[in-house]
Amino acid sequence: MFIAGDSPVPVPDALDRVIEIADYMSIIAAQRLERIDAMRREALAEAAAFGRELTPVVERGIRLELAAALRVTEYVADDLLHLAEALVQRYPAVLDSLAGARVTEQHARILVSSLDAVESELRGILLPDALAEAEAQPVGTFRRRLRAMIDAARSVTLARRHEEALAHRRVAIEPAEDGMAWLHALIPAVEARAIHSRVTAMAKAIASHPDESRSLDQTRADVVCDLLIEGDTAGHPAEARGIRATVAVTVPALALLAADDDERDRRGHAPASVEGIGPIPLDEAKRLCAGAEGWMRVLTHPETGAVLSVGRDQYRPPPGMRRLIRWRAGRCMAPGCGVPASRCEIDHTVAWQDGGPTSLFNAAPLCTGHHTVKHHGGWTVEQVPGSGGALLWTSPAGRRYLVQPERPLPVFRPSSAADAPF
Ligand SMILES: [Zn+2]
Repeated sequence: MFIAGDSPVPVPDALDRVIEIADYMSIIAAQRLERIDAMRREALAEAAAFGRELTPVVERGIRLELAAALRVTEYVADDLLHLAEALVQRYPAVLDSLAGARVTEQHARILVSSLDAVESELRGILLPDALAEAEAQPVGTFRRRLRAMIDAARSVTLARRHEEALAHRRVAIEPAEDGMAWLHALIPAVEARAIHSRVTAMAKAIASHPDESRSLDQTRADVVCDLLIEGDTAGHPAEARGIRATVAVTVPALALLAADDDERDRRGHAPASVEGIGPIPLDEAKRLCAGAEGWMRVLTHPETGAVLSVGRDQYRPPPGMRRLIRWRAGRCMAPGCGVPASRCEIDHTVAWQDGGPTSLFNAAPLCTGHHTVKHHGGWTVEQVPGSGGALLWTSPAGRRYLVQPERPLPVFRPSSAADAPF
């Protein structure tokens, strides 16, 4: 609100005009969906009045009419009818939010399709928090948070569902064109990730050879063939042999300490999860953490003794700190970016040449594109003190965007006085 004498009336800039139209689009989208559902109900009522049974044929006719009228495919029309029915009949609070331009149509679509896929008794429980996230977060972040929320709610039954799914493990071959074929393996996600990580690490070692001309994808495929057909890597360069993958398994410390399922339920049940995959049954996680090689154990409450800072002694963060920085963020720490942290570069938030220390409180993963934008795009980026890893981005136009890490770390007081500003 403008207060006389306080500051000059802000002049709307070009981005304000874009935002205004985007808001109108959300408002109009809500009205369109309301009318689509009204049209569906009217057509059903008419069919009933003529004594026709409400069969799939009637539904099909409604879909055809909407598709023809809007000049879209029947597939799109069906999607619109479903979304309209869901918002008007079952998720009125979400429709209200769209009509008030607090979420976009894409947020609403993600919310409906995700909640419709979970057990009906969980929907009402999840809805208020899911809508609050939709109203606060960009689409990519919202989708991930909603996924995590649903995973946590469903983790109670995860062990049983995993047990049943495990019975269906198999390897299958699917013919493709031009003398090619797909080889599929339905296996536990943890093993799948370990296989992919190892094959990628070996392919990268091979690709670093000066005579190598194959792409990473091609090399990965060749490594899979070598390992599965001959079972040996004698033909690979020495540095690619004997590579074992490391996969991060995140386990909530409290769940590990819980004596049994009942106690675990009482303590709350954030699920154990594997980096890049999602939740796994807790017993599986316990087995992996029991000392098997190749698994990096990360407790969601960090163990004391974690390396928090090496100050100005070393530009490159030590491996433990790099893992912690990536694990904390989960993703590139630019607003709304979804690139996994494992594929990001670690950026000194305050640049090394400007005196920035190599510290957990001055580092965040950024994908190559956003790393370039940060350094050359006129944006300023700061770590929010005491936030456990949040970044505040300020655009050249002066707008501010807060990016929270996927897993905020408890804030420790670094013992070294040199780190006091952080
Ligand atoms: Zn990015």
